[in-house]
Amino acid sequence: MPGKVILVGAGPGDPGLLTLKGREALESADVVLYDRLVGDGILKMIPKGTKKINVGKQSGNHPVPQEEINRLLLDYALDGKTAVRLKGGDSFVFGRGGEELELLYKNNIEFEVIPGVTSATAVPAYAGIPVTHRGASSSLHIVTAHTRDSKEPDIDLRKYAEIGGTLVFLMGAAMVGYIAEGLMDAGMDRYTPCAVIENGTTPRQRKTIGTLCDIEEKAGSVHSPAMIVVGAVCELSGRFDWFSRLPLYGKTIAVTRHEEHSSGLAGRLRTAGANVIECPCIHTESLVTKRMARELKIEVKGYDIIVFTSASGVRAVMEGIYDIGCDARVFGDTRIAVIGSATASALEGYGLRADIIPDKYSGRALGKALSKAAERGGRILMLRSVEANRRLNEILDEAGAEYKEIAVYRTIPECELNITDLINKGKIDYVTFTSGSTVHGFMQFHKHADLSSFTAVCIGDTTAEEAGRCGMSCIISQNASVDSMLNTIIGDSIFEAE
Ligand code: SAH
Repeated sequence: MPGKVILVGAGPGDPGLLTLKGREALESADVVLYDRLVGDGILKMIPKGTKKINVGKQSGNHPVPQEEINRLLLDYALDGKTAVRLKGGDSFVFGRGGEELELLYKNNIEFEVIPGVTSATAVPAYAGIPVTHRGASSSLHIVTAHTRDSKEPDIDLRKYAEIGGTLVFLMGAAMVGYIAEGLMDAGMDRYTPCAVIENGTTPRQRKTIGTLCDIEEKAGSVHSPAMIVVGAVCELSGRFDWFSRLPLYGKTIAVTRHEEHSSGLAGRLRTAGANVIECPCIHTESLVTKRMARELKIEVKGYDIIVFTSASGVRAVMEGIYDIGCDARVFGDTRIAVIGSATASALEGYGLRADIIPDKYSGRALGKALSKAAERGGRILMLRSVEANRRLNEILDEAGAEYKEIAVYRTIPECELNITDLINKGKIDYVTFTSGSTVHGFMQFHKHADLSSFTAVCIGDTTAEEAGRCGMSCIISQNASVDSMLNTIIGDSIFEAE
C-alpha cells in the first residue's frame, strides 16, 4: 500500500502560529521534509524518532533542487510512508506547493493540504498593520518580487501603482529600493506610507515605517526574510503595534531546565515577547526500582507525613508505584507536604492533593512547617534527590524532628546547547534557574562565561544562594510557579528600563 503526502504550512515564524491540524500531521509523519524558513520552535515539535530532511533553499544556493524534492516525496509515498512536506507560511502562497502535487497526482498518490498562516497577512499583523481597513484600503495584493536568478524581478510595477489598496511584496531583502522607485516612477505618490518588516512574528522582528521616497534609506541594510508593505494602512502601525510593546520584547532569556519541565515557562516567556533559548543543564534519572517501589509501598504506612521537594521526585515515585501495578492509594490518608505549587500540581496529575504547601518557596519555610507538624509527634519521610540540599535536614535536626530520607532520583549535568559565546557577546539578558542542581549543571559547562553580563532568575532563596556563590547577580522568584517567575522577570525589566 502506498503512503501519502501531507503539505503543511508552518506559518511565518512564531511556532504558536502552526495550526492544530498541522501539528497532528507532524505527529503522524514517518518523514518530514522542511524548508529554510521553518523555525526551530516548529522543528522541535517533530517527534524524536521521525526522520527529518532539510531541503531548505538558500538564495543562490539550492541544496535540494525542486525536481528532487518532488521525487523524494513520491518515493517515500511509494514506500508506504506518510511524508509531511513542511513549508514556511502557506504552501500555496508562493510556496510551490502545487508543483509538488503534480507528480503525486500523476502517480495516483494520496495527498492532503493543510493551509498555513501566510506571512503576507501575519507579518503585517505583528507589526500593527491590518492589511485592509475601512476607509484606508479595501483590497489586498500579494506580489512576489523574487527572481529566478537574482537579477531584477520580472514584475510590472506600473500595474500595481494604479491598483490602489494594500500591496504586500514578498521578496529578496535587497529589493526595497527597486520596488519603491519603480512605484514612484509609475506615478505613485512619493509620500505613500510603507513598511519594511524583517523576521516578522519572531523576537528578531525589525520594522521600519516610512514613505516610498525615504523607506530605502530608513531601512538601511535589510535581512531576509523580509517584505515591503505599501499603502495607507501602514500609518496605523504606530497605534496598533502590540507585538513590540509586549513586556519582554527584545529580551533574550535562557531556560536551563528540560523542555518537558519548563515548556510552561518557555511558552509563557515567548508569549510575553521574549526570545527564549532552551539550554537544559541537567536531566533527572529515577532511582526507584520495582523492588524499591514495593518496599516504599509498605514503608509509607509507618509515616505521618511524606515530603516531596520537586516535580521530578513526584514523577520518580509515582511512576515506580504505577510500575508495580499500584496507584495513589498506597499513600492512604498519610499527609503530603510539598515545597511549592509546581510540585503540588505534579502530584495532582496522579490524583493526589498536597496537605502542606508553605507560602514561600524555600527549604526554610518547608522546614518550619514540617517542624511544627513534627512537634505533634509526626514521623516524616522525605523523598528527594541524591543531591538534595542539606538545609532542610538542618532545620529538622534543630527542631528535633524524627525523619527519614530516601533518594528517589538523581540529577545529571548535561549540555545540549552551550551558550558561553552568546553570553560573552552580551546577547543573554536572563538565565533561569529552578534549583541548585541547574546552577551546578550550568557552571560545569559554562566555566568561561562572563557571569556579570546577565541576571540569574532563581526560584527561592536556596537556589539564589548557590547562584550568588558562583558569582551571579540574582533576582528571586519567591514561588516556583510560572506566573511568579514571569512576573519577577517582567518586574526587573521594567525597573531596568526606568
Ligand atoms: N509561503 C510563504 C511565502 C514564501 S516566499 C508564506 O505564505 O508566507 C518567502 C518570502 O516570504 C520571503 O522572502 C519574505 O518576503 C516573506 N516572509 C516569509 N516569512 C517572513 C517573515 N517571518 N518576515 C518577513 N517576511 C517573511
